[in-house]
Amino acid sequence: MAEKRLPFTREKLERIIQSHPTPFHIYDEKAIRDNARALKNAFSWAEGFREHFAVKACPNPHIVAIMREEGFGADCSSMAELVICEKVGITGELIMFTSNDTPSAEYVKAKQLGAIINLDDITHIDFLQKHAGLPDVISFRYNPGPLREGNVIIGKPEQAKYGFTRDQLFQGYRIARDKGVKRFGLHAMVVSNELNLDYHLETARMLFDLVAEITRDVGIRIEFVNLGGGFGIPYKPDQTAIDWQALGSGVREVYDEKVKARGLHPLRLCMESGRAIMGPYGWLVTRVLHLKHTYKDFVGLDACMANLMRPGLYGAYHHITVVGREGAPADRVYDVTGSLCENNDKFAIDRMLPKIEDGDILVIHDTGAHGHAMGFNYNGKLRSAELLLGPDGSVKQIRRAETLDDYFSTVEFPAV
Ligand SMILES: *Cc1c(COP(=O)(O)O)cnc(C)c1O
Repeated sequence: MAEKRLPFTREKLERIIQSHPTPFHIYDEKAIRDNARALKNAFSWAEGFREHFAVKACPNPHIVAIMREEGFGADCSSMAELVICEKVGITGELIMFTSNDTPSAEYVKAKQLGAIINLDDITHIDFLQKHAGLPDVISFRYNPGPLREGNVIIGKPEQAKYGFTRDQLFQGYRIARDKGVKRFGLHAMVVSNELNLDYHLETARMLFDLVAEITRDVGIRIEFVNLGGGFGIPYKPDQTAIDWQALGSGVREVYDEKVKARGLHPLRLCMESGRAIMGPYGWLVTRVLHLKHTYKDFVGLDACMANLMRPGLYGAYHHITVVGREGAPADRVYDVTGSLCENNDKFAIDRMLPKIEDGDILVIHDTGAHGHAMGFNYNGKLRSAELLLGPDGSVKQIRRAETLDDYFSTVEFPAV
């Protein structure tokens, strides 16, 4: 298999490690900005297009601030994510609040910030009205159920907990209209990590058709369509990234056919991608602590599932580079493990890699989204630092590693 790109040389990485002990996640600012610009450029034909970065993918204020600088808004689904946006200056309709099973305080906060609230269920219209009052603009999340196929991470749409059924959607717009809501949006997100461009174009087609039906049947104007997140990234070296330009021109064709031709133009487009914005531009850097040979060959790292949960959680593939041995033949088979007392704490199972030695540095790829973000403290493991590699080669710590004091900060020890 081909090697995947690293944003640093071995010498550079060793210098970074001298002042920042492993494990840590490191993000490549230049690549993040280049990617953001490529996405915007691909939709420059669409007046008012906006990407709302899904904050949950990488909820670091410095990263969210970069998104703001690139002209992105944010997609939030919790109080903490709303507060991050407020603090970095993303407010008003730059925020899309796409939550589910939502506590009232979060609706109140979202409304206060002037966010676009994207409801997950028809009963939330009354809930929102009761607790926060109805805003002028509202959006609904559509779940097409058996009309669409899902994928592994999110499951089949009819099994997924998200969104309105088709009937509820029409009824929901009527209710909201009758309650005085003035402006409307429509959203769907039916897949996760999907690399197939056609699937995403099919979602656009589905949503644009729905806009036409809602306009006709309910008699309201839909102002914007949110194409969701779920855009995949090539975790495996032989996979191909979604080409933003191809997505943009594909959506444009569908738009011309389904929106313009029906006189529904202008319909503002937005997205709430997280993974495809950040995923490929983060790496987990970790050191080999132990090599163990029993019934299998195990490589024990100083990182564990608490630093990157995806492989353990759903068997996700993350490419691994043994630093300094990029050219060497991958002729050994290893299970690459962390230190949790959980047997699924493995970054890779039966992975072909070059021969590994004690103290080697391993780089785990594509951790920029749903990496550090999914961190947890089970087994008393502490979350790592996050570093930002600047366009000028500088390295800035944008989150320090947790300490034992952090870990114990929520308890008091009984007297002994
Ligand atoms: C997780 C999520 C996203 C982002 O998904 P990606 O796969 O990171 O693009 C967007 N919208 C909602 C509602 C989500 O839950």
